[in-house]
Amino acid sequence: IIHHSGGGWSPAGLRGRGCEYVTQNFAPRTDQTGRCSTPPRDFLPISMDTACGSDPPQSKKVCVIGAGMAGLAAARELRREGHDVTVLEQSGDVGGQWLYDPRTDAADPLGVAAPVKVHSSMYASLRLISPRQSTGFTDFPFCPKSGRDDRRFPGHREVDLYLKDFCDAFGLMDAVRLNTRVLRAAMTPARRWAVRSVDLGVGECDGADEKKLDAYVDEVFDAVVVATGHYSQPRLPSIKGMETWRGRQMHSHSYRVPEPFRGEVVVVVGCGESGKDIAMEIRGVAKEVYLVAGSMEAVTPGLSKVLAKHSANLHLRLEVERLCEDGRVAFKDGGGSSSSVAADTVIYCTGYSYSFPFLETGGAVTVDDNRVGPLFEHVFPPSLAPSLSFVGVPRKIFAPRFFEIQARWVAQVLSGRRALPAEEEMRRSVEEFYRARDAAGVPRKYTHEIGRREPTVRTLLRDHATKLLIDSLIVVALIGGVRACSTWTISGRSTATSLAWRGGGTSCWGRSCAA
Ligand SMILES: Cc1cc2nc3c(=O)[nH]c(=O)nc-3n(C[C@H](O)[C@H](O)[C@H](O)COP(=O)(O)OP(=O)(O)OC[C@H]3O[C@@H](n4cnc5c(N)ncnc54)[C@H](O)[C@@H]3O)c2cc1C
Repeated sequence: IIHHSGGGWSPAGLRGRGCEYVTQNFAPRTDQTGRCSTPPRDFLPISMDTACGSDPPQSKKVCVIGAGMAGLAAARELRREGHDVTVLEQSGDVGGQWLYDPRTDAADPLGVAAPVKVHSSMYASLRLISPRQSTGFTDFPFCPKSGRDDRRFPGHREVDLYLKDFCDAFGLMDAVRLNTRVLRAAMTPARRWAVRSVDLGVGECDGADEKKLDAYVDEVFDAVVVATGHYSQPRLPSIKGMETWRGRQMHSHSYRVPEPFRGEVVVVVGCGESGKDIAMEIRGVAKEVYLVAGSMEAVTPGLSKVLAKHSANLHLRLEVERLCEDGRVAFKDGGGSSSSVAADTVIYCTGYSYSFPFLETGGAVTVDDNRVGPLFEHVFPPSLAPSLSFVGVPRKIFAPRFFEIQARWVAQVLSGRRALPAEEEMRRSVEEFYRARDAAGVPRKYTHEIGRREPTVRTLLRDHATKLLIDSLIVVALIGGVRACSTWTISGRSTATSLAWRGGGTSCWGRSCAA
């Protein structure tokens, strides 16, 4: 039994009021070899000391949009708190990104038109980037199961199966309406939420049969929790010649397997996790692969070693200067030098944009260069709180634990068990957070990258709720990981919150090399 005293994660000013939460059995059982056995079924719900609030908790009718990790975390926490929950999910199953979809937005491989039709951006070979020990829900560990993918860094299918197991264990499926896309969510004059959805029909989850868009359903809820993810809508760079280049251009959102690139010369723009994975995978079949790093900072010692090992057909370039009419791609190589290559395909692994096309807030929530705001602690828009909330906005966090804690906060605020600061105070807090990030030189587009910041005592104190969330998550992850899987080691480098675990090797990178 782990006791966290002080009700510490809440930014709602309730610290020091003797709140305490108790998680029982959050560490998985281990057999004699120290490996996890099946997840415990007899865990007790995480309970909050009812002394935190004097009034009995109120039950609200809540709509959760999206049944990925964040939406499922929200559904469970809301139910635990006694709310009446409906989860609307456009796909034919739960899992969100982890529900691998071999289809792509083939007609729009750059994903220029928003919203994209296919939700998942995962490629066939994708494996979890962090060890499974640090990836599960706090009381539902992600243990290896016999007959399934039991690797420490399992493939996407295993993560999806784990999320389905989670649904089953907590009986969430009866709250989920599949194949149901939310078209509109807007506040009513009575400060409730009018939600319009359409039943897409089985098998049409991503095809959005336009004819059926007439057959929508209107419902009213006390609150809406947005959990629609943010790894679907491509974010594209602006490169001279992109509009007219005659070769194939696509975003990693539409990459699934390397085969279509056999024998090609491919330029992979972007050196994040996907860029590195995809370049490495395509290298196996392509004639030449040029990986464009963007800056020398991205060229880590590990990356240099990989490049040296595969120098026969994997090359590093610093920046794309332009795409030329004759089909060549021109690079700036630094130090004033340049080069070019005749390429068949350019793949942009340049990240994703936050997008909430269904949400009508009259400007109360906007997306500006990937800053969703204003959001108090990345969750509540001050003027619409608590009836509108977002679970899953932060990046570079421990998922799904971070989502779980966000969701618990939302559930308890909605029930009245926790209070939010006044609107003005929340607004001030957000502005202060933005100022601190600006002062630290963090570009706006990284506003929600929790693990990106180099934390200093001062910034952490300013952003106390984030600190407390991170603290509790690290403790849970570390204790959980160590206790759950004591025979396993977490190898490779890690930073506290950047989830930069790797498979230990110095000569490889990314999920494809994870042990
Ligand atoms: C290539 C790639 C690799 C990744 N690797 C990792 C990793 O190794 N580890 C990790 O922790 N995370 C990884 N992620 C991030 C991953 O997205 C998160 O782990 C997690 O899936 C986020 O959960 P979510 O619920 O916030 O969003 P999602 O999983 O995207 O779920 C959102 C859900 O909302 C639904 N939805 C959207 N719009 C609507 C609508 N209008 N109406 C109804 N339903 C809607 C979607 O269909 C979807 O089911 C990766 C992401 C990508 C793209």
